[in-house]
Amino acid sequence: MKITDVRMSLRRHPTKVYRRRPINAITDVAIHHSLTLTGSAESYANYHVNTHGWPGIGYHFVIEKNGEIKWCNDLDNISYHIGNSNGFAVGICLTGDFRSQKLTAAQEASLRWLCNVYLPTKIPKLKNIKGHNQYPGYALKQCPVFDFRKVLTDKSETIKVIKSLTDMGRDCSKFVCKGAAVKGLQDKLMFVGEKLPRFGADSDFGQECEDAVKAFQARHGLIVDGVVGVSTLNKLNVEVAKMNEYIKVLEQRIEKLENKLNTSGKKVSDWAKENWDEAKVNGYFDGTRPLDNITRQESAVVVNRLRHNFLKLIHDQGETLEVIKNQMEKE
Ligand SMILES: [Zn+2]
Repeated sequence: MKITDVRMSLRRHPTKVYRRRPINAITDVAIHHSLTLTGSAESYANYHVNTHGWPGIGYHFVIEKNGEIKWCNDLDNISYHIGNSNGFAVGICLTGDFRSQKLTAAQEASLRWLCNVYLPTKIPKLKNIKGHNQYPGYALKQCPVFDFRKVLTDKSETIKVIKSLTDMGRDCSKFVCKGAAVKGLQDKLMFVGEKLPRFGADSDFGQECEDAVKAFQARHGLIVDGVVGVSTLNKLNVEVAKMNEYIKVLEQRIEKLENKLNTSGKKVSDWAKENWDEAKVNGYFDGTRPLDNITRQESAVVVNRLRHNFLKLIHDQGETLEVIKNQMEKE
């Protein structure tokens, strides 16, 4: 599918220019028809500038009867086509009056490619594709009249539309179906949780791979055709990046846990070993976690065990505390 860039050749107002916006301000694509039986980007530009006095043509793209897509305004131009909603929308106009006419097959294919394949790669925040009459203030406008949703989701032609040498798919006569690119795709699919239970990443785009691609497309609101074109691959890369981020967080948590476990599992230091063993034998400590801090209640237990052993010793020798004190002073 080709785009003809007519931005520099269309009629413009000699002094007025459209305001601009950041690309990330764009969330919508609005679809129009020209409401004329014939016409072209050039004739709409003349009309919008000469009759309305606008800075230039109101639409960003015009799709003519033969399917040719004409690129008329930079995407960041806030051109005029849906009033108060212009700020966040890109406008596509299809030549024709669809109250009485039908889109040509070439127009349908071009609209599908433009909305499903091309624009999603150029407008990162694209959320809505809507008809002119779905915007506030235009409910009564007979634009675009035709069922654009049906055109956009028509699968019978989608495969032909997005057919290109870089797309991957099961049909080897149309798509890349074997090799390193397919293996890369399969690795990514499994990484984000799709299933390839029998063949795994075997570099071969078979039925199992197609099913996994379809499952991925369904899960992420893409057209479910089992063909990996630009929009599916972009989405897949986004999901891979998300998964990597998630794994990084998990790894950090595991590392923290491991540090905790290591500290409490460490062996007693060489210099303390003899005393530690003796304290164990005498029952002051239970012999675990030699490097842990001691709490007040643990100290209380140790102190009381000491006191108990000491009193027992005195009792066994039949001596009074006074005698032992005197003996210690002598020594
Ligand atoms: Zn319209």
